[in-house]
Amino acid sequence: MKNIILLGPPGAGKGTQARKLVDERGMVQLSTGDMLREARTSGTEMGRKVAAVMDGGELVTDEIVIGLIEEKIRASHGAGFIFDGFPRTLAQADALGAMLHRSGQDLSAVIEMRVDDEVLVRRISGRFTCGNCGEVYHDETKPTKKPDVCDVCGSTDLRRRADDNAESLKVRLMEYYKKTSPLIGYYYALGDLFTIDGLAPIEVVSRELTDILDQQSAT
Ligand code: ADP
Ligand code: AMP
Repeated sequence: MKNIILLGPPGAGKGTQARKLVDERGMVQLSTGDMLREARTSGTEMGRKVAAVMDGGELVTDEIVIGLIEEKIRASHGAGFIFDGFPRTLAQADALGAMLHRSGQDLSAVIEMRVDDEVLVRRISGRFTCGNCGEVYHDETKPTKKPDVCDVCGSTDLRRRADDNAESLKVRLMEYYKKTSPLIGYYYALGDLFTIDGLAPIEVVSRELTDILDQQSAT
């Protein structure tokens, strides 16, 4: 089965598209952001360490996130991973290549989701998610059908992230441009890179992604 990376700045739509691929193709979403948010509620030493870093918008250490991903790859059932928010540094990209290689797997595509910076501010400031099932919404572009009720599971536990504010976004964007955007060149050089227009409506982005996956499956 195919393993893919969704690459893009915060708010590009990675989580939204990953969830659709899980529903539609039975792939497995590996979001390091979700794993770290879970870790910080667990009361562990690691959870405490990462909380302040995440709230400030900086990147957590490579060692921690590589460790989280390694556990998941080891437990792989071959359904095909969607790496969402990982890798975010060149060291993480190198480590991912080595971990996949060790488990006899590889990457079939790295999909860069390109979105203008001004749009990211609107995306991030309007984002909320269901605390029960994780569905991602937006005040303007994807509101719930009934006010304050999740369309998918009916929960009223709708949440906004502590780091989804303009100040933290500035730091997160700077981290993206300094540490993550070099991965676009890295994966281009490896011949794995596809670029899609992340500004298009959610369903259009989804079709483009599906086309790339189908094309890769045929090869
Ligand atoms: P990421 O995981 O890359 O940080 P999300 O998937 O959480 O991004 O999307 C950020 C916000 O933008 C969410 O509120 C989501 O509903 C909204 N969104 C995602 N994709 C689109 C799109 N193509 N058009 C408009 N809004 C979108
Ligand atoms: P996300 O949910 O992807 O927006 O990530 C939220 C936050 O978690 C980021 O701002 C970082 O602090 C941290 N984080 C998530 N993934 C990584 C990663 N691959 N490397 C380092 N830090 C990460």
